[in-house]
Amino acid sequence: MCYGPAMQNPRLRRALTGFLAILCIAGLLKSLEPARAAAPPSSASPADALKLLLEGNQRFVDGKPERPNQDTSRRAALVGGQQPFAAILSCSDSRTAPEIVFDRGLGDLFTVRNAGNVPSPFAMESLHYTTAHLGTPLILVLGHTKCGAVTATLSGQTEDIPETAKAIEPAVAKSKAMSGDALDNAISENVRLTVQKLSTWKPLAEMIKAGNLQIVGAVYHLDSGRVMVLDEPASSAPPSK
Ligand SMILES: [Zn+2]
Repeated sequence: MCYGPAMQNPRLRRALTGFLAILCIAGLLKSLEPARAAAPPSSASPADALKLLLEGNQRFVDGKPERPNQDTSRRAALVGGQQPFAAILSCSDSRTAPEIVFDRGLGDLFTVRNAGNVPSPFAMESLHYTTAHLGTPLILVLGHTKCGAVTATLSGQTEDIPETAKAIEPAVAKSKAMSGDALDNAISENVRLTVQKLSTWKPLAEMIKAGNLQIVGAVYHLDSGRVMVLDEPASSAPPSK
């Protein structure tokens, strides 16, 4: 460190030394703070986006949510526009709210929800909008344990949800050949088939091919709060005609 003429003055030297000591202590205290929820980067990669989601879910699982981006300044900052870093296609079930499960706030998640998290034409258009026009790099298809819509389809009680059941039936049919719990298998297959359908839909398939989008399937566990990613992200699916 270079000491100028000012350091010849003992009072000034003491004052400066004290000031530097305070700075050091403040820095030390800051380094001891627990890691805060990372702010979503303005142009997150698909991998960054998945990492942010899973980090937030870990805080939720641990019972240590930070509830980022839920204050008045965030609200004000978003008046001019939004750039959500992830889109979530999830069930309408009241126990699976994405902003809570992933510990995020305003402007972070573009959520599309319906019973059974099915890829209805409306859901697909919404997902296309956020990926193509808002630059969202990740779609997470999120099923959940004990899903009522899948349970109803599995048991053939579909009179109140005919269109939803029609969308879930291929997953139920596929899961019948599997060993293990029929409902858990149908829930996972419903997510996988949805990821497959979205990944091969031409508008999204082109974005995946260009490296601007990933589509990932996961299941939320009601008991633990944990979101379990099912498979590797769909990244090279050929576009459908
Ligand atoms: Zn459900």
